[in-house]
Amino acid sequence: MDYEAFFSGHLGRLHSEGRYRVFAELERHAGGFPRATRHVDGGTHEVTVWCSNDYLGMGQHPDVLAAMHDVLDKCGAGAGGTRNISGTNHYHVLLERELADLHGKEAALLFTSGYVSNEATLETLQTVLPNLIIFSDALNHASMIAGIRHGRCAKHVWRHNDLAHLEELLKAAPADAPKLIAFESVYSMDGDIADINGVADLAERYGAMTYLDEVHAVGMYGKRGGGVAERDGAMHRIDIIEGTLGKAFGVMGGYITGTASLIDAIRSYASGFIFTTSLPPALTAGAKASVAWLKEHNEVREAHQERAARLKAMFKAAGLPVMPSVSHIVPVLVGDPVHTKLISDVLLNEHGIYVQPINYPTVPKGTERLRFTPTPFHTDDMMRDLVQAMDALWARCNVKRMGGEAA
Ligand SMILES: *Cc1c(COP(=O)(O)O)cnc(C)c1O
Repeated sequence: MDYEAFFSGHLGRLHSEGRYRVFAELERHAGGFPRATRHVDGGTHEVTVWCSNDYLGMGQHPDVLAAMHDVLDKCGAGAGGTRNISGTNHYHVLLERELADLHGKEAALLFTSGYVSNEATLETLQTVLPNLIIFSDALNHASMIAGIRHGRCAKHVWRHNDLAHLEELLKAAPADAPKLIAFESVYSMDGDIADINGVADLAERYGAMTYLDEVHAVGMYGKRGGGVAERDGAMHRIDIIEGTLGKAFGVMGGYITGTASLIDAIRSYASGFIFTTSLPPALTAGAKASVAWLKEHNEVREAHQERAARLKAMFKAAGLPVMPSVSHIVPVLVGDPVHTKLISDVLLNEHGIYVQPINYPTVPKGTERLRFTPTPFHTDDMMRDLVQAMDALWARCNVKRMGGEAA
Protein backbone atom coordinates (compact mmCIF):
# COMPACT_ATOMS: atom_id res chain seq x y z
CA MET A 1 0.00 0.00 0.00
CA ASP A 2 1.41 3.41 -1.01
CA TYR A 3 0.08 5.53 1.87
CA GLU A 4 2.14 8.55 0.84
CA ALA A 5 0.35 8.65 -2.52
CA PHE A 6 -2.98 9.15 -0.70
CA PHE A 7 -1.63 12.10 1.26
CA SER A 8 -0.03 13.81 -1.70
CA GLY A 9 -3.10 13.09 -3.86
CA HIS A 10 -5.30 14.93 -1.37
CA LEU A 11 -2.87 17.83 -1.18
CA GLY A 12 -2.65 18.04 -4.99
CA ARG A 13 -6.41 18.42 -5.17
CA LEU A 14 -6.32 21.30 -2.66
CA HIS A 15 -3.56 23.00 -4.63
CA SER A 16 -5.39 22.70 -7.95
CA GLU A 17 -8.59 24.15 -6.45
CA GLY A 18 -6.66 27.06 -4.92
CA ARG A 19 -7.71 25.91 -1.43
CA TYR A 20 -4.36 24.79 -0.03
CA ARG A 21 -3.82 26.57 3.29
CA VAL A 22 -0.54 28.31 4.01
CA PHE A 23 0.08 29.62 7.52
CA ALA A 24 1.79 32.97 7.98
CA GLU A 25 4.54 32.51 10.58
CA LEU A 26 4.26 35.52 12.84
CA GLU A 27 5.89 36.78 16.00
CA ARG A 28 3.42 38.95 17.88
CA HIS A 29 4.82 41.83 19.93
CA ALA A 30 3.27 42.62 23.29
CA GLY A 31 2.75 46.38 23.30
CA GLY A 32 3.00 46.62 19.51
CA PHE A 33 -0.28 45.01 18.40
CA PRO A 34 -1.42 44.83 15.58
CA ARG A 35 2.16 44.94 14.29
CA ALA A 36 4.06 41.65 14.07
CA THR A 37 7.24 40.20 12.60
CA ARG A 38 6.77 37.69 9.81
CA HIS A 39 9.30 34.92 9.34
CA VAL A 40 9.62 33.81 5.72
CA ASP A 41 12.33 32.11 3.63
CA GLY A 42 14.92 32.50 6.39
CA GLY A 43 14.33 36.25 6.75
CA THR A 44 11.86 38.55 8.50
CA HIS A 45 9.75 41.60 7.76
CA GLU A 46 7.24 43.72 9.67
CA VAL A 47 3.51 43.39 8.96
CA THR A 48 0.21 44.84 10.14
CA VAL A 49 -2.21 42.09 11.13
CA TRP A 50 -5.76 42.67 9.85
CA CYS A 51 -7.38 39.32 10.64
CA SER A 52 -6.71 38.68 14.31
CA ASN A 53 -9.54 37.56 16.59
CA ASP A 54 -7.76 39.33 19.46
CA TYR A 55 -10.45 41.89 18.66
CA LEU A 56 -9.67 44.35 21.46
CA GLY A 57 -5.93 43.76 21.82
CA MET A 58 -6.45 42.21 25.27
CA GLY A 59 -3.68 39.70 24.52
CA GLN A 60 -1.20 42.46 25.38
CA HIS A 61 -3.16 44.26 28.11
CA PRO A 62 -0.96 45.09 31.15
CA ASP A 63 -3.57 43.80 33.66
CA VAL A 64 -3.80 40.49 31.82
CA LEU A 65 -0.04 40.06 31.55
CA ALA A 66 0.48 41.04 35.20
CA ALA A 67 -2.11 38.52 36.39
CA MET A 68 -0.50 35.79 34.29
CA HIS A 69 3.03 36.59 35.53
CA ASP A 70 1.81 36.67 39.12
CA VAL A 71 0.03 33.31 39.02
CA LEU A 72 2.73 31.70 36.89
CA ASP A 73 5.20 32.47 39.65
CA LYS A 74 2.79 31.42 42.40
CA CYS A 75 1.37 28.21 40.92
CA GLY A 76 3.87 27.13 38.26
CA ALA A 77 3.27 26.18 34.65
CA GLY A 78 0.56 23.55 34.38
CA ALA A 79 -2.62 22.60 36.25
CA GLY A 80 -1.27 19.17 37.16
CA GLY A 81 -4.30 17.12 36.27
CA THR A 82 -7.90 16.93 35.18
CA ARG A 83 -10.41 18.95 37.19
CA ASN A 84 -11.51 15.70 38.86
CA ILE A 85 -8.02 14.51 39.80
CA SER A 86 -5.98 17.28 41.37
CA GLY A 87 -6.44 19.81 38.58
CA THR A 88 -9.06 22.17 40.06
CA ASN A 89 -7.07 25.25 40.92
CA HIS A 90 -8.39 28.17 42.95
CA TYR A 91 -8.05 30.31 39.80
CA HIS A 92 -10.39 28.05 37.80
CA VAL A 93 -13.06 28.62 40.42
CA LEU A 94 -12.53 32.39 40.48
CA LEU A 95 -12.78 32.58 36.69
CA GLU A 96 -15.98 30.52 36.64
CA ARG A 97 -17.54 32.93 39.15
CA GLU A 98 -16.48 35.90 37.02
CA LEU A 99 -18.06 34.31 33.91
CA ALA A 100 -21.31 33.36 35.63
CA ASP A 101 -21.58 36.98 36.78
CA LEU A 102 -20.81 38.27 33.27
CA HIS A 103 -23.82 36.47 31.85
CA GLY A 104 -26.12 36.82 34.86
CA LYS A 105 -26.20 33.04 35.39
CA GLU A 106 -25.92 30.83 38.48
CA ALA A 107 -22.88 28.91 37.29
CA ALA A 108 -20.19 28.52 34.64
CA LEU A 109 -17.94 25.67 33.49
CA LEU A 110 -14.54 26.00 31.84
CA PHE A 111 -13.27 23.92 28.93
CA THR A 112 -9.89 23.91 27.20
CA SER A 113 -11.32 25.80 24.20
CA GLY A 114 -14.53 27.20 22.79
CA TYR A 115 -14.49 24.32 20.31
CA VAL A 116 -14.44 21.76 23.09
CA SER A 117 -17.13 23.59 25.08
CA ASN A 118 -19.54 23.43 22.12
CA GLU A 119 -18.73 19.88 21.15
CA ALA A 120 -18.81 18.46 24.68
CA THR A 121 -21.93 20.31 25.83
CA LEU A 122 -24.05 19.63 22.76
CA GLU A 123 -23.09 15.97 22.78
CA THR A 124 -23.74 15.58 26.51
CA LEU A 125 -27.15 17.27 26.41
CA GLN A 126 -28.26 14.44 24.14
CA THR A 127 -27.26 11.91 26.81
CA VAL A 128 -28.85 13.83 29.66
CA LEU A 129 -32.11 14.56 27.83
CA PRO A 130 -33.42 11.37 26.21
CA ASN A 131 -35.40 11.90 22.96
CA LEU A 132 -34.06 15.44 22.65
CA ILE A 133 -34.63 17.11 19.28
CA ILE A 134 -32.02 19.70 18.26
CA PHE A 135 -32.80 22.61 15.94
CA SER A 136 -29.57 24.00 14.51
CA ASP A 137 -28.97 27.14 12.44
CA ALA A 138 -27.55 26.23 9.01
CA LEU A 139 -24.45 28.38 9.52
CA ASN A 140 -23.52 27.12 12.97
CA HIS A 141 -19.81 26.69 13.68
CA ALA A 142 -18.06 23.36 12.97
CA SER A 143 -17.69 22.71 16.72
CA MET A 144 -21.47 22.88 17.27
CA ILE A 145 -22.10 20.63 14.28
CA ALA A 146 -19.55 18.14 15.63
CA GLY A 147 -21.24 18.06 19.05
CA ILE A 148 -24.70 17.72 17.56
CA ARG A 149 -23.56 14.87 15.27
CA HIS A 150 -21.87 12.95 18.08
CA GLY A 151 -25.15 12.35 19.88
CA ARG A 152 -27.91 10.10 18.64
CA CYS A 153 -30.87 12.44 18.89
CA ALA A 154 -33.00 13.78 16.03
CA LYS A 155 -31.81 17.02 14.45
CA HIS A 156 -33.25 19.61 12.14
CA VAL A 157 -31.34 22.38 10.39
CA TRP A 158 -33.14 25.69 9.98
CA ARG A 159 -32.25 28.11 7.20
CA HIS A 160 -29.78 30.68 8.49
CA ASN A 161 -31.48 33.32 10.68
CA ASP A 162 -34.87 32.36 9.17
CA LEU A 163 -37.23 32.35 12.15
CA ALA A 164 -40.25 31.43 10.02
CA HIS A 165 -38.46 28.24 9.00
CA LEU A 166 -37.43 27.55 12.60
CA GLU A 167 -41.05 27.93 13.69
CA GLU A 168 -42.24 25.57 10.93
CA LEU A 169 -39.84 22.89 12.17
CA LEU A 170 -40.74 23.44 15.84
CA LYS A 171 -44.43 23.22 15.05
CA ALA A 172 -43.96 19.94 13.17
CA ALA A 173 -42.16 18.28 16.11
CA PRO A 174 -44.05 16.39 18.86
CA ALA A 175 -45.29 18.96 21.40
CA ASP A 176 -44.14 16.93 24.41
CA ALA A 177 -40.59 16.14 23.17
CA PRO A 178 -37.64 17.97 24.77
CA LYS A 179 -36.19 20.49 22.30
CA LEU A 180 -33.04 22.57 22.00
CA ILE A 181 -32.46 25.50 19.65
CA ALA A 182 -28.74 26.00 18.93
CA PHE A 183 -27.50 29.19 17.29
CA GLU A 184 -24.88 31.95 17.33
CA SER A 185 -25.17 35.68 17.95
CA VAL A 186 -22.54 37.17 15.61
CA TYR A 187 -21.81 34.97 12.58
CA SER A 188 -18.16 35.59 11.94
CA MET A 189 -17.90 35.16 8.17
CA ASP A 190 -20.70 37.56 7.13
CA GLY A 191 -20.83 39.66 10.28
CA ASP A 192 -24.62 39.36 10.60
CA ILE A 193 -26.39 39.00 13.96
CA ALA A 194 -29.22 36.70 15.06
CA ASP A 195 -32.55 37.97 16.40
CA ILE A 196 -32.00 36.57 19.90
CA ASN A 197 -35.31 37.78 21.34
CA GLY A 198 -37.11 36.39 18.30
CA VAL A 199 -35.57 32.95 18.90
CA ALA A 200 -36.38 33.21 22.63
CA ASP A 201 -40.03 34.00 21.78
CA LEU A 202 -40.25 30.83 19.68
CA ALA A 203 -38.47 28.81 22.37
CA GLU A 204 -41.08 29.91 24.92
CA ARG A 205 -43.97 29.22 22.58
CA TYR A 206 -42.78 25.68 21.76
CA GLY A 207 -41.22 24.73 25.09
CA ALA A 208 -37.63 24.56 23.80
CA MET A 209 -34.32 25.25 25.54
CA THR A 210 -31.88 27.67 23.93
CA TYR A 211 -28.12 27.33 23.36
CA LEU A 212 -26.31 30.47 22.19
CA ASP A 213 -22.70 30.64 20.95
CA GLU A 214 -21.51 34.19 21.73
CA VAL A 215 -17.88 33.49 20.80
CA HIS A 216 -17.66 36.49 18.43
CA ALA A 217 -19.51 38.81 20.81
CA VAL A 218 -18.29 38.26 24.37
CA GLY A 219 -16.21 41.19 25.55
CA MET A 220 -17.41 43.26 22.58
CA TYR A 221 -21.17 43.78 22.95
CA GLY A 222 -23.37 44.74 25.89
CA LYS A 223 -22.62 47.32 28.57
CA ARG A 224 -20.30 44.89 30.43
CA GLY A 225 -19.19 42.76 27.48
CA GLY A 226 -21.77 40.04 28.11
CA GLY A 227 -22.42 39.76 24.37
CA VAL A 228 -25.31 40.53 22.03
CA ALA A 229 -27.77 38.87 24.45
CA GLU A 230 -26.78 41.48 27.03
CA ARG A 231 -27.08 44.29 24.47
CA ASP A 232 -30.55 43.06 23.48
CA GLY A 233 -31.74 42.51 27.06
CA ALA A 234 -32.08 38.77 26.37
CA MET A 235 -29.48 37.10 28.59
CA HIS A 236 -32.04 35.83 31.09
CA ARG A 237 -34.06 34.30 28.24
CA ILE A 238 -31.21 32.05 27.05
CA ASP A 239 -30.63 28.77 28.90
CA ILE A 240 -26.99 28.17 27.92
CA ILE A 241 -24.60 30.91 26.84
CA GLU A 242 -21.30 29.64 25.45
CA GLY A 243 -18.19 31.75 24.91
CA THR A 244 -14.45 31.72 24.34
CA LEU A 245 -11.59 33.24 26.28
CA GLY A 246 -9.41 33.12 23.17
CA LYS A 247 -10.85 35.88 21.01
CA ALA A 248 -11.81 39.28 22.49
CA PHE A 249 -10.58 38.20 25.94
CA GLY A 250 -7.18 37.62 24.35
CA VAL A 251 -6.13 34.42 26.16
CA MET A 252 -7.41 30.86 25.66
CA GLY A 253 -10.17 28.51 26.79
CA GLY A 254 -13.93 28.12 26.44
CA TYR A 255 -16.93 28.02 28.74
CA ILE A 256 -20.64 27.61 29.18
CA THR A 257 -22.93 29.37 31.66
CA GLY A 258 -26.41 28.40 32.87
CA THR A 259 -28.35 27.23 35.91
CA ALA A 260 -26.44 25.46 38.68
CA SER A 261 -28.07 22.09 38.00
CA LEU A 262 -27.55 22.24 34.23
CA ILE A 263 -23.88 23.13 34.67
CA ASP A 264 -23.49 20.41 37.29
CA ALA A 265 -24.98 17.84 34.90
CA ILE A 266 -22.54 18.79 32.11
CA ARG A 267 -19.66 18.75 34.63
CA SER A 268 -20.68 15.27 35.70
CA TYR A 269 -21.22 13.68 32.27
CA ALA A 270 -19.20 15.51 29.58
CA SER A 271 -16.29 13.37 28.45
CA GLY A 272 -14.57 16.39 26.84
CA PHE A 273 -14.57 18.07 30.25
CA ILE A 274 -13.77 15.11 32.51
CA PHE A 275 -10.93 13.32 30.73
CA THR A 276 -8.56 16.15 29.90
CA THR A 277 -6.03 18.23 31.82
CA SER A 278 -7.48 21.57 32.92
CA LEU A 279 -6.23 24.96 31.75
CA PRO A 280 -3.00 26.28 33.30
CA PRO A 281 -3.84 28.46 36.34
CA ALA A 282 -1.85 31.43 34.98
CA LEU A 283 -3.96 31.37 31.85
CA THR A 284 -7.22 31.39 33.82
CA ALA A 285 -5.94 34.27 35.97
CA GLY A 286 -5.17 36.24 32.79
CA ALA A 287 -8.62 35.49 31.41
CA LYS A 288 -10.27 36.58 34.65
CA ALA A 289 -8.37 39.86 34.61
CA SER A 290 -9.44 40.40 31.00
CA VAL A 291 -13.13 39.70 31.65
CA ALA A 292 -13.12 41.88 34.77
CA TRP A 293 -11.37 44.78 33.03
CA LEU A 294 -13.69 44.71 30.02
CA LYS A 295 -16.75 44.77 32.28
CA GLU A 296 -15.66 48.25 33.38
CA HIS A 297 -14.48 49.65 30.06
CA ASN A 298 -17.32 50.18 27.65
CA GLU A 299 -15.32 52.90 25.89
CA VAL A 300 -13.18 50.17 24.31
CA ARG A 301 -16.29 48.60 22.79
CA GLU A 302 -17.31 52.00 21.42
CA ALA A 303 -13.85 52.56 19.94
CA HIS A 304 -14.00 49.08 18.38
CA GLN A 305 -17.32 49.79 16.65
CA GLU A 306 -16.08 53.18 15.48
CA ARG A 307 -12.99 51.57 13.87
CA ALA A 308 -15.13 48.97 12.07
CA ALA A 309 -17.56 51.62 10.80
CA ARG A 310 -14.66 53.77 9.61
CA LEU A 311 -13.04 50.96 7.63
CA LYS A 312 -16.36 49.98 6.03
CA ALA A 313 -16.91 53.62 4.98
CA MET A 314 -13.38 53.89 3.53
CA PHE A 315 -13.78 50.67 1.49
CA LYS A 316 -17.15 51.90 0.21
CA ALA A 317 -15.75 55.30 -0.74
CA ALA A 318 -13.07 53.51 -2.80
CA GLY A 319 -15.73 51.39 -4.52
CA LEU A 320 -14.45 48.17 -2.95
CA PRO A 321 -17.19 45.53 -2.50
CA VAL A 322 -17.52 45.46 1.29
CA MET A 323 -20.27 42.97 2.18
CA PRO A 324 -23.23 44.01 4.35
CA SER A 325 -22.27 43.46 7.99
CA VAL A 326 -23.94 44.86 11.10
CA SER A 327 -21.03 43.91 13.36
CA HIS A 328 -17.32 44.56 13.83
CA ILE A 329 -16.49 42.09 11.02
CA VAL A 330 -15.58 43.70 7.68
CA PRO A 331 -15.75 41.16 4.81
CA VAL A 332 -14.79 42.19 1.26
CA LEU A 333 -16.05 39.98 -1.56
CA VAL A 334 -13.61 38.69 -4.18
CA GLY A 335 -15.70 35.83 -5.55
CA ASP A 336 -13.14 33.22 -6.56
CA PRO A 337 -10.44 31.33 -4.67
CA VAL A 338 -7.52 32.05 -6.98
CA HIS A 339 -7.88 35.85 -6.90
CA THR A 340 -8.56 35.80 -3.16
CA LYS A 341 -5.32 33.94 -2.54
CA LEU A 342 -3.40 36.10 -5.02
CA ILE A 343 -4.61 39.37 -3.48
CA SER A 344 -3.84 38.15 0.00
CA ASP A 345 -0.33 37.02 -1.08
CA VAL A 346 0.49 40.37 -2.72
CA LEU A 347 -0.85 42.34 0.27
CA LEU A 348 1.42 40.33 2.54
CA ASN A 349 4.55 40.17 0.40
CA GLU A 350 4.51 43.64 -1.16
CA HIS A 351 2.59 45.77 1.34
CA GLY A 352 3.21 44.14 4.73
CA ILE A 353 -0.54 43.71 5.18
CA TYR A 354 -1.68 40.37 6.55
CA VAL A 355 -5.23 39.24 5.86
CA GLN A 356 -5.97 35.55 5.46
CA PRO A 357 -7.99 34.47 2.39
CA ILE A 358 -11.34 32.90 3.31
CA ASN A 359 -12.21 30.11 0.91
CA TYR A 360 -14.55 27.13 0.57
CA PRO A 361 -15.52 25.19 2.70
CA THR A 362 -15.41 27.97 5.31
CA VAL A 363 -17.69 30.01 2.99
CA PRO A 364 -19.74 28.89 -0.08
CA LYS A 365 -17.96 28.69 -3.45
CA GLY A 366 -18.24 31.97 -5.36
CA THR A 367 -18.26 34.02 -2.14
CA GLU A 368 -14.53 33.77 -1.41
CA ARG A 369 -13.50 36.88 0.47
CA LEU A 370 -11.04 38.78 2.60
CA ARG A 371 -12.23 39.27 6.16
CA PHE A 372 -10.87 42.26 8.07
CA THR A 373 -11.15 42.68 11.82
CA PRO A 374 -10.10 46.23 12.70
CA THR A 375 -9.40 46.80 16.39
CA PRO A 376 -9.08 49.96 18.51
CA PHE A 377 -5.34 49.65 17.77
CA HIS A 378 -5.71 50.04 13.98
CA THR A 379 -4.95 53.69 13.18
CA ASP A 380 -6.27 55.92 10.39
CA ASP A 381 -2.84 55.67 8.71
CA MET A 382 -2.99 51.88 8.71
CA MET A 383 -6.46 52.04 7.18
CA ARG A 384 -5.34 54.46 4.49
CA ASP A 385 -2.41 52.18 3.55
CA LEU A 386 -4.76 49.21 3.42
CA VAL A 387 -7.39 50.88 1.22
CA GLN A 388 -4.75 52.22 -1.20
CA ALA A 389 -3.17 48.79 -1.57
CA MET A 390 -6.55 47.13 -2.08
CA ASP A 391 -7.59 49.75 -4.63
CA ALA A 392 -4.42 49.13 -6.68
CA LEU A 393 -4.88 45.35 -6.49
CA TRP A 394 -8.51 45.49 -7.55
CA ALA A 395 -7.42 47.37 -10.67
CA ARG A 396 -4.51 44.98 -11.30
CA CYS A 397 -6.63 41.82 -10.95
CA ASN A 398 -9.70 43.34 -12.62
CA VAL A 399 -11.95 42.16 -9.78
CA LYS A 400 -15.55 43.39 -9.48
CA ARG A 401 -16.17 46.57 -7.51
CA MET A 402 -19.34 47.86 -5.81
CA GLY A 403 -22.30 47.63 -8.16
CA GLY A 404 -20.84 44.53 -9.77
CA GLU A 405 -18.64 45.95 -12.55
CA ALA A 406 -15.03 44.98 -13.11
CA ALA A 407 -12.82 48.03 -13.59
C1 LIG B 1 -13.62 30.24 17.05
C2 LIG B 1 -15.02 29.73 17.28
C3 LIG B 1 -15.28 28.74 18.22
C4 LIG B 1 -14.17 28.02 18.93
O1 LIG B 1 -13.61 28.78 19.93
P1 LIG B 1 -12.07 28.49 20.32
O2 LIG B 1 -11.96 29.02 21.69
O3 LIG B 1 -11.23 29.18 19.31
O4 LIG B 1 -11.90 27.00 20.26
C5 LIG B 1 -16.59 28.42 18.52
N1 LIG B 1 -17.62 29.02 17.87
C6 LIG B 1 -17.41 29.94 16.92
C7 LIG B 1 -18.57 30.56 16.25
C8 LIG B 1 -16.11 30.31 16.59
O5 LIG B 1 -15.90 31.19 15.60
